[in-house]
Amino acid sequence: MPKFVFVTGGVVSSLGKGIAAASMGAILESRGLKVTIIKMDPYLNVDPGTMSPFQHGEVFVTEDGAETDLDLGHYERFIDAKTRKVNNFTTGQIYDTVLRKERRGEYLGKTVQVIPHITNEIQDFIMRGARVGTPDEVDVAIVEVGGTVGDIESLPFLEAIRQLSLRQGRTSSCFVHLTLVPFIKSAGELKTKPTQHSVQKLREIGISANLLLCRADRPIPDDEREKISLFSNVPYEAVISVADVDSIYRIPRMLWEQKVDEVICQTLALQAPAANLKVWDDLIDRLEHPQETVRVAMVGKYVDLTESYKSLTEALIHAGLHTRSRVQIEYIDSEQIDDQGPDMLQGFDAILVPGGFGKRGVEGKIKAIAFARQNKIPYLGICLGMQLAVVEYARHVAGLTKANSTEFDPSTPEPMIALITEWVGADGAVQSRSQASDLGGTMRLGAQRCQVKPGTRAHDIYGPEVYERHRHRYEVNNQLKDRVAKAGLVIASETPNESLVEMVELPASVHPWFMAVQFHPEFTSTPRKGHPLFESYIQAALAYKVARSGGTSQAGQQQGVAA
Ligand code: GLN
Repeated sequence: MPKFVFVTGGVVSSLGKGIAAASMGAILESRGLKVTIIKMDPYLNVDPGTMSPFQHGEVFVTEDGAETDLDLGHYERFIDAKTRKVNNFTTGQIYDTVLRKERRGEYLGKTVQVIPHITNEIQDFIMRGARVGTPDEVDVAIVEVGGTVGDIESLPFLEAIRQLSLRQGRTSSCFVHLTLVPFIKSAGELKTKPTQHSVQKLREIGISANLLLCRADRPIPDDEREKISLFSNVPYEAVISVADVDSIYRIPRMLWEQKVDEVICQTLALQAPAANLKVWDDLIDRLEHPQETVRVAMVGKYVDLTESYKSLTEALIHAGLHTRSRVQIEYIDSEQIDDQGPDMLQGFDAILVPGGFGKRGVEGKIKAIAFARQNKIPYLGICLGMQLAVVEYARHVAGLTKANSTEFDPSTPEPMIALITEWVGADGAVQSRSQASDLGGTMRLGAQRCQVKPGTRAHDIYGPEVYERHRHRYEVNNQLKDRVAKAGLVIASETPNESLVEMVELPASVHPWFMAVQFHPEFTSTPRKGHPLFESYIQAALAYKVARSGGTSQAGQQQGVAA
């Protein structure tokens, strides 16, 4: 039976429970343990796929095609093991499952109740997440409980983990509680009271914390840690100071230095070799010593909500780490480009159009892409950023002047991008609707293997095969794609069965670096390994920066900019 590390949060939300869980996972994995991380979300939506980015931030997509919480992205960036559908579940899913069982009569006429039926179902989901009874069963499952202790909606989850630890025995579970220790300016002091109350609240529910991760804007002095220990009944060495840092990738070392993994292993009676954080130390060294800075313009819709581009932002930072450069991302509102023209993109070393849904801001994105193409600025398009790159090329180079996506203009005469069920030719004739597959109208989700054409930049980067994750409905129209291909846009990769366009690029003779992909490469980038596509892109940005300044040194370029 796996061991469990339950991570709860107190006082306020947004303290970084996901990153704390992921960092503990990283340390335990470095001790040779097989780890997975599970997130339980207390909302009623069955999955976050239909939630607004304003509500939820990014929707992270797993290899097996689940639309999940963005914390799973953190998990995959910190630990080697991949997450799957079973790593994230919501109250909505639990109730859905229980209600279906009830309808099927599986409760044999009993009254169906929160306790035990909902709490049992939660425990079954946790076991499934830990791959219990399968060849993939883990040594340690870290289980993050969404929400904050004291919320009504997370109570069944807390009750379920209390029961689970009781059933599995004393050394089965380690309860980690993440709280805030605020610094009160007027008093000039860190205040421990909210933490004391939060730990008490947890105890009222029947859970005694084994480890406290105390978040503060500065290191917490030992006497304050002692005070927290005394009042919360958690041993002093298990009261951990988690101060603000400039990079989340410093957290594993910070926790390790305070022996968090030792406390966990002792609580769980686990024997494991010592931790080895060398890869993380290397990473921090790269972070601290960049040789260049590149500025990337990310042209999107949710510019005020950078959480909705979390994986993408991280992937660019990773690429910086692996090219010894600091990537400065500026989020630019595409509607502003539509109003004022693309001149504001001057001075950037690279342009990126990320994924997105809905019509707002689309024409501004197309203007940004045209600007990047015409001015030979490195361009990376992701998902919608690829669809619009194809539309831009169709309109301005291939002579399909009215080209559009049916997502934005359902009656466009040149549906360059459309649902598979809507594909028609430029003459307006609906051709072979029989080609329509199950994918039509539904979301294409998860990872798929595709061949990459030899002789393309995509092939230089990925080699013969690409295996990346998708989250989209619309596709490049197979009835029209020859038109853009004949006009010079290289289709570098297609899906094996339906020949759906996966990657496009411009040849090096025409543009130094112009690539766009239908999938989301950002989901597979990790700080330790980086990602070849993003690294190539940032390298191109570095080269462009040097070329633009006439090949001079960084100091020379800065003078040039000032002049
Ligand atoms: N809106 C587009 C589609 O559904 C692109 C989606 C995306 O960028 N993730 O196909």
